[in-house]
Amino acid sequence: MENIVTSTIICPQCAGENKFPTDEKFIDCEFCGSAIYIDKRKVVTHYMVNCNFTKERADGNLRRWMSGNFHVKDLDKNAQVTAVYFYYFPLWYIKIKDTSTERIYLQPAHSTSISEIKNIDIPAGNLKLFQKKEHNMKDFINPDIQLSAAQSWLKSSGVPVENATETSLVHIPLYQFYYNYNGKQYTAIVEASSGKVYANTWPAKSETPFRLLFGSSIGLLLLASILSLIVALAASDGSEGWIFLYEVIKVFLYILIFIPLVIIAYIIAKKV
Ligand SMILES: [Zn+2]
Repeated sequence: MENIVTSTIICPQCAGENKFPTDEKFIDCEFCGSAIYIDKRKVVTHYMVNCNFTKERADGNLRRWMSGNFHVKDLDKNAQVTAVYFYYFPLWYIKIKDTSTERIYLQPAHSTSISEIKNIDIPAGNLKLFQKKEHNMKDFINPDIQLSAAQSWLKSSGVPVENATETSLVHIPLYQFYYNYNGKQYTAIVEASSGKVYANTWPAKSETPFRLLFGSSIGLLLLASILSLIVALAASDGSEGWIFLYEVIKVFLYILIFIPLVIIAYIIAKKV
């Protein structure tokens, strides 16, 4: 005879006593139908966020993000997307009540290279109870970071986790894009409920031309000051007026230098 090990799970929504096999992690409460996730002995409500974006629309958002100011010029046109994956990523959702406000802290429940993911904004109204029957479980990434690990991580960064009023597991829909630019591979995530793009690294504008320009401007200004001093002293022939003359020549030379510098900086900014 086979021995089925069961344990009693108290539903966090209705307090109903559910009996389930101990190896089951995702269950539905048999009394109220709530989705429950079991992390070790901790039982939390299991939510998900609906996907509102098709792959094509997510790609459109990625291209708009690529054309932004912080990225290298024409990244949106020159980046080659090599792979796109859709999945629901698990996050620990911890609501903490302060004296006056309520704040939500998110921690990845699975290892990820994109740490920006914890800055995702999940409006409370977007949380839907997870329904196992309605989804393909292959799209859902199982948590491999335990709740206790996420809590101690938050605690170590000064978050009072003992004041948590709600703790749950939330699966958020993501498109993960891999793209090549100049022989290097990058990754970016499009969060598929809001369409926002998240990335830790990207091909940035090169700063070298700006540094060179800055260095040469300092040199030119110093040279202009020395030149003004020599000319002023020579022209005033030792009289008191040399300081005034020096300032006038200096301001004139500074303006003469600044105009082309601004134009060059503008041209560089357009090109890189
Ligand atoms: Zn229940």
